[in-house]
Amino acid sequence: MHNDIEKVLLSEKEIQEICCNLGSRITDDYKDKSLILIGLLKGCNPFLSDLSKRINLPLEIYYMKASSYKGRESSGNVKIDLDIDIDIKDKDVLLVEDIVDTGSTLTKVISLLKMRKASSIKVVSLLDKPEGRLVPFEADYVGKTIPKVFVVGYGLDFNERYRNLPYIGILKKAIYI
Ligand code: 5GP
Repeated sequence: MHNDIEKVLLSEKEIQEICCNLGSRITDDYKDKSLILIGLLKGCNPFLSDLSKRINLPLEIYYMKASSYKGRESSGNVKIDLDIDIDIKDKDVLLVEDIVDTGSTLTKVISLLKMRKASSIKVVSLLDKPEGRLVPFEADYVGKTIPKVFVVGYGLDFNERYRNLPYIGILKKAIYI
């Protein structure tokens, strides 16, 4: 698997440092609140697991699933495949995402959750690709801003593979051509 990677963008050590930093900022910002983390499957999985351990608050964890990507391209057409089954009215929600690209997924998820009258809805994303935006969107907490390249690993897939890579990397061209 490691032979398929052209370049490592974020090492395991760098990812853990990011989780520590974001975790302590989130702990400070939500210390008097009742925090609910909602992870966006499947990509959020390792990030939510590592980040939540660095947030020193008795938070709750739930999951949603939205899809728009096929292979290396976003269709731009976002579908909610799995919804939460709890009432978020008057709660402080923090959406946990692996990467923001076009901004379409989070725009759709946030508009859905807003209708349910949460007291606040914010976003933490491990990665951000601002050059990929099709709709204006800014995450509240970002681990690292990266150029417009397709990355895999640490939850991020290519056709469902490479999610188990312990770091974030760029695939060799030969793998997807
Ligand atoms: P957006 O709706 O912002 O375009 O994309 C959000 C979703 O697209 C992410 O949760 C992720 O599943 C997928 N995505 C965006 N960029 C990448 C990328 O570089 N690599 C992978 N594997 N998935 C990506």
